[in-house]
Amino acid sequence: MAKNVLDACISSIRDEGLSKNLLLASTAIVLAEANYFTQGLGMKLYSIPGSPQVPPTLTTADMKRVYAGTFVKSRGTRGMYDHLKAAPKNDVCPLCAQRTVSTLDHYLAQAIHPALTVVPLNLVPACAECNKLKLDYQPSSEVQQSFHPYFDDFDDAQWLVAEVLETSPAAVRFSVAAPPGWTATKISRATRHFEAFRLASLYASHAGVEISNIRYSLERVASFGTPEDVRLHLSDRAESARRAYPNAWQTATYQALAASVWFCSGGFRA
Ligand SMILES: [Zn+2]
Repeated sequence: MAKNVLDACISSIRDEGLSKNLLLASTAIVLAEANYFTQGLGMKLYSIPGSPQVPPTLTTADMKRVYAGTFVKSRGTRGMYDHLKAAPKNDVCPLCAQRTVSTLDHYLAQAIHPALTVVPLNLVPACAECNKLKLDYQPSSEVQQSFHPYFDDFDDAQWLVAEVLETSPAAVRFSVAAPPGWTATKISRATRHFEAFRLASLYASHAGVEISNIRYSLERVASFGTPEDVRLHLSDRAESARRAYPNAWQTATYQALAASVWFCSGGFRA
């Protein structure tokens, strides 16, 4: 809750003027949080208008000082910051599902929405790269909104898929599928998220390393069996990855490798 964060910040800020002004701005910030919650449930966060200040007197620069100077650093608030950051399982960034969390990303940018600067619902754990790719981006429609881990469920179906490129060495190309039952808006949002966070190149790179890593074991399976045995082996890995996380690049990679007759028949050797 923003109220808890505000109380802790107000008592931790050394600058008395800033502390007093933050206290005065508390009502506006708590109201902004309530509106954020409502708009978030309706996937309409893009409709929240930006503002250069938090009434009655705080500026965007003041709020950045509250965030960076107190919320992130102060002994009285650091526990809350760390708690938000530690939410993802295995410390994996919820935006790319690959790199580790190193910061909190302002889903709606603090430069545009100063009232949301310390609102926990607007603070999403992220890796440094995803945080950098987003910067002060402001979505202007529902389809332009990237995933919001507190409001969205994009893992109710498999949307990440891949296909094998018959190159030497073999490679994998990722794309966004259209899961049955998903609305056109949800598919567009997944596509936009996939593009904005440059997941195609990130995942292709990891898949390339994975293909090198399994070459020897596939060679062993093939030396005792047939391409069908290679396919079964890969298929088993795909299912194991899917059960752990349906939209992991590993799931899509192993599914694509298992589905490629070329790969199972020796394409893996190249
Ligand atoms: Zn990330």
